[in-house]
Amino acid sequence: MDLWGREDPEDRIAEEKPQEEAARFSSHEEIAEAIRRCAACHLRQEGNLGPVLSSGPVPSPLMLVGEGPGGVEDDYGAPLIGPSGQLLDKALASVGITRDRVYVTNVVKCRPRGNRTPDIAEGRFCADKWLREEIRLVQPKVIVALGKAALRYFLGHEAGIVRSRGHWIDWEGIPVMPTFHPAYLLRQYGRDLVQSKWDVYYDLREAKERAAAAAPDWVWQSGTPPDLLAEFAAVRAERHAGQ
Ligand code: SF4
Repeated sequence: MDLWGREDPEDRIAEEKPQEEAARFSSHEEIAEAIRRCAACHLRQEGNLGPVLSSGPVPSPLMLVGEGPGGVEDDYGAPLIGPSGQLLDKALASVGITRDRVYVTNVVKCRPRGNRTPDIAEGRFCADKWLREEIRLVQPKVIVALGKAALRYFLGHEAGIVRSRGHWIDWEGIPVMPTFHPAYLLRQYGRDLVQSKWDVYYDLREAKERAAAAAPDWVWQSGTPPDLLAEFAAVRAERHAGQ
């Protein structure tokens, strides 16, 4: 509690299960299975269907990190596949990337109630436990932080995305490009929307160019763009069967 008797999110998270030493996994399948079973913090109790994993290849030179699952993502068990994800796919296409050629995940794996933005302590708890290990396995050359929650995890402190976007961060030797979360674009209108779309385009283009320079043989586009809703239909059925 602070001086005014308000709950401090850092206190709440500290009362939960103690953070274990980051587990080491030998494959992405292993960590995916462990994440699926995770109930280490209160977010799992916020009325969701369970942790939402990732999409895309392992390894991958480019990794996109969003904030947390929304309603459609929780329903299907896949990251960034709802309206925000569809906008992201268009933004990726504008720089010559199909969605199946990049790894996509979130800072927190369980949907916060009411789609609220996870606070900094919640983000750090889940990401230290899982995202950090995903990064070790995926070995990205470049990470794109989509929105404020991802930005502040990689920075380690509060920061605004409007001022930070477009400026490289170094996170443990990996270059991180912060940009707007597509959900932010969905809330913009008129000239603000046009400007924000250009900003995301420039940020993604720079991120891709840097990743491509480090992985010159990587193929960035597949012949047929993936239908993630169809691909995750079985996962969706499994999630609902478990309720
Ligand atoms: S938000 Fe992360 S740490 Fe918390 S229960 Fe879900 S997967 Fe586990």
